Amino acid sequence: MFARSRVHTIDPVPDSDDLSVRYITEEGETVTETFDQIVLSIGLQTDPEVVAMANRLGIELTEGNFCKTDTFSPVQTSRDGIYVCGAFQGPKDIPQSVVDASAAASAAGESLSTARNTLTQQAEVIPQANVVGDRPKIGVIVCECGINIAGVVDVPAVRDYAASLPYVEYVAKNLYACSQDSQETMSELIKEKGLNRVVVAACTPKTHEPLFQETLINAGLNKYLFEMCNIRNHDSWVHKNNPDLATAKAKDLVRMAVSKVALMQPLPEAELNVNQTALVVGGGISGMTAAKSLASQGYTTHIVEAGERLGGNAHHIFKTATGDRVKDKLAALVDSITGSDNIKVHLNTRLSSVEGFVGNFKSTLKNGDSESELEYGVAVIATGGTALKPDEYSYGKDPRILTSLELDQKLIAGDPALKTMKSAVFIQCVGSREPDRLYCSRVCCTHSIDNALELKKLNPDMDVYVLYRDIRTYGEREYLYKKARQAGVIFIRYDLQNKPTLTADDNGVRILATDHVLQRPVEITADLVTLASAVIPNKDEALAQFYKVPLNDDGFFVEKHAKLGPSEFATDGVFLCGLSHYPKPIDEAIAQGRASASKAITLLAKETIHTSGTIAETEPAICSSCGVCVSICPYSAPSFIEAEARMHAGKASINPVLCKGCGLCVASCRSGAIHLKGFDNDQIFAQIFTLNEAV
Ligand code: SF4
Ligand code: SF4
Ligand code: SF4
Repeated sequence: MFARSRVHTIDPVPDSDDLSVRYITEEGETVTETFDQIVLSIGLQTDPEVVAMANRLGIELTEGNFCKTDTFSPVQTSRDGIYVCGAFQGPKDIPQSVVDASAAASAAGESLSTARNTLTQQAEVIPQANVVGDRPKIGVIVCECGINIAGVVDVPAVRDYAASLPYVEYVAKNLYACSQDSQETMSELIKEKGLNRVVVAACTPKTHEPLFQETLINAGLNKYLFEMCNIRNHDSWVHKNNPDLATAKAKDLVRMAVSKVALMQPLPEAELNVNQTALVVGGGISGMTAAKSLASQGYTTHIVEAGERLGGNAHHIFKTATGDRVKDKLAALVDSITGSDNIKVHLNTRLSSVEGFVGNFKSTLKNGDSESELEYGVAVIATGGTALKPDEYSYGKDPRILTSLELDQKLIAGDPALKTMKSAVFIQCVGSREPDRLYCSRVCCTHSIDNALELKKLNPDMDVYVLYRDIRTYGEREYLYKKARQAGVIFIRYDLQNKPTLTADDNGVRILATDHVLQRPVEITADLVTLASAVIPNKDEALAQFYKVPLNDDGFFVEKHAKLGPSEFATDGVFLCGLSHYPKPIDEAIAQGRASASKAITLLAKETIHTSGTIAETEPAICSSCGVCVSICPYSAPSFIEAEARMHAGKASINPVLCKGCGLCVASCRSGAIHLKGFDNDQIFAQIFTLNEAV
């Protein structure tokens, strides 16, 4: 239950563990309630030590003691060469902090681009031993993980037990198996003892498997001749009060790993060349920022823009919340794009096809009737959004009723009529946070309040009202809200169930709303009504299909992971930024433009990439062509073999480059026609059967 209220006091309830809260409701009623627990949602502030550091470094701070940045350079501090990210830049959540971190990396990468790869050393390539057909010779290392495992599990007993298992030729225990010297020792042991398969009983393969696989590579073994079992997270941590059980379980896990690794075969990884050209789809502010960052780090970048000019929505915005004239900043950004030798702009152009995969995409660009082909290694999607044209509040029927961007146009043009108006009303959440569009458009509270202040500046005697549902001037934008109240802007809250009504005639536009403080209707006659209309996406389903990337129900693109991958898609080599992702102000769109470039460069900086060896493969002879794998794969890796093919036409086959080895298709194929390399039936069954064996 949400209760709008003002909390007065929290007191312990005598002779109990309860807490009593006294608060005042909107209706002015005092309520006392008792709770078991109260969670205080506290604010963010900059640590005094960080403030002192900023002062030492000569970095300017804001009124709220956060790092001062510019809307168009959101990760640049006031000192050249020093960048900022995370909550020091302003109060923010994890996703925006992660975006900022990538953006700061990209800004630093631009400064250092001439030095890129100058200190790189090539690792020595160790020839891989051919172990196919050899009897398994398994080494088992049991890790103590300090006291994490050894404090619960009897590690020497597990080690000794491992020595009794079939094909095990070498066993050891280790204080920290992942330490640098342990890796070197393990690599030497593999060579010295002639081991051809390795089991490490330690922590989670999610974080540590690549490290141990690297050790196998250094010892001249294929990295897939390895199995890890998790005797920490799955064992010592969960059974810490039962050491005997934990030790028995560790033995089971080791036995299962040994039975599986004995059946492992070397798996090949395909090497792919990376085309070091980038494509940015969309030439708005975030797309241009991504392109500029890519180009300034030395990568040829193409911008494909459906419209006739670069800049998108920014052309219609008067100024930013920090007071910058968007027109001037936009012009400078467009100039830097058109003046860059590394950027090629394709206006009035759309993609009509996309083939290929990470590192090797090929697209047809369509400009009117002419078509051209483009090959590139990575794509950044920045197709933007637009302002909703409202179908309520008499919008479109009276010239005195505008959207926020239309008011901006009048401000840009310096319309003299704005100075002589007596009264102006802003209506918030028009089309946002309603059943059809549940999201908050995030930019409109700040935009309206900023424009309300602008109107007050033009004519301090003007009566300016903001009719709102909640004010969401998040972060330091809240100072604007305070400034607006100090300037005399009147805020009136309304409910979704009781929206303002509006009638227009020659005497003005009359707005009727219910004031929640006065608890009665108020009527305002306005010369101008501005509707804070929702930001809606340019829902591009064709593009989503081309790159196999998802759109949510509202039509915004969905990132790989809200916190861990906010500027990339699950599809390798495809990145996103700007309003196509969700509504965001210019500074956040710019940070994400930079972040997407930064992520893209992690791929472009490599000349080659390797696919995984753990991939699915079909057995065409037993495929019944049901199509389940084709429809279920999140990465569009399976497809039917073309009718013209001589062999297996109509049967499913899996593109090894696109397959991520998730196993969904394997579990879904009723014909049993799909095998996941490294997790094949014999390996999984060996683990299951050995689990039933008594220790
Ligand atoms: Fe409503 Fe403000 Fe959110 Fe815009 S930013 S949708 S006006 S709450
Ligand atoms: Fe063939 Fe199995 Fe795919 Fe069906 S799910 S098309 S049987 S491989
Ligand atoms: Fe697709 Fe996963 Fe099957 Fe690979 S294993 S083809 S990624 S469903």
